[in-house]
Amino acid sequence: MNTTAIGFASNKVRDVERYYHAMLDQQYGEREVAAMLRCLFEAFLGWDNTQYLLHRSGTVNQSVLLKLHHAAEELRRWRPVQYIVGYSYFAGCRIQVDERVLVPRPETEEMVQGIVDGSLTGSALCATGKPPRIIDLCTGSGCIAVALAKACADATVVGVDLSNDCLAVARANAANNGVDVLFERHDVLRHEELAASMVGGDFDLIVSNPPYVCDSERTAMSRNVTDHEPAAALFVPDADPLCFYRAVAWFGLRRLSPDGFIVVEINENLPQPTLELFKEYGYTASLHRDFRDKPRFIVARHGSAF
Ligand code: GLN
Repeated sequence: MNTTAIGFASNKVRDVERYYHAMLDQQYGEREVAAMLRCLFEAFLGWDNTQYLLHRSGTVNQSVLLKLHHAAEELRRWRPVQYIVGYSYFAGCRIQVDERVLVPRPETEEMVQGIVDGSLTGSALCATGKPPRIIDLCTGSGCIAVALAKACADATVVGVDLSNDCLAVARANAANNGVDVLFERHDVLRHEELAASMVGGDFDLIVSNPPYVCDSERTAMSRNVTDHEPAAALFVPDADPLCFYRAVAWFGLRRLSPDGFIVVEINENLPQPTLELFKEYGYTASLHRDFRDKPRFIVARHGSAF
């Protein structure tokens, strides 16, 4: 197949850009298309941002052109660019992703950074004398668990998920990032069983980004999410949208160390009910906003810790 047969005017990088913008700007907006192109050039050619700028007036070979052509077709079908290239960057880690797991979100990365530097909890993760014990409930790709393990080399980190598919991805992510995380299969909603089965002491940090989007919110979501990402990682029934937070709160009563923290990502449309839930369980809890100024995180401690 020659260059024009697959839609490009030539094999010049600038013509690839023109083709992408003509095909995808209406769907995604110009800036997002430019960001996707950077991501694809990094994956297919190893170009970082600087190399991309340097190579912009150059050309690419036929096999790369073919890959770029296929990628454009997939983007047109709303497949997330992270699934196309097979990875995403998250809090200093390269995280392998595919349709089995959610693409890590920037707000989740913000939560991890807030835990590591202490801006969410008030004390940096590695600042305490003794190595922290951490558990990540509904770990998915393992991005939170892996990033925390990488940021705090002494920590003991456990990741829990119901899905064997997720656990396979999470284990690969730990191995690829050179960290030890114990990934175990459990149903977080069966919190009593979970609390009883976890060996070792209490946890100094219980972290979770559980499914929290209400079924009724599905229609307002973008097609790259609803058509491609795993529904089980996203949606909760309208009748009980806080089910995972109840399980996390309950687990914390049994297994959070006396001065430990629970940190969770939440649905921006349910901040007060979620905060109230933690308070009803006896925690001292606070609400925190994300970089988009949406109520997004809750930090909870045992009531007696203050
Ligand atoms: N914030 C994610 C989204 O809007 C949802 C993540 C989750 O359900 N935990 O797609």
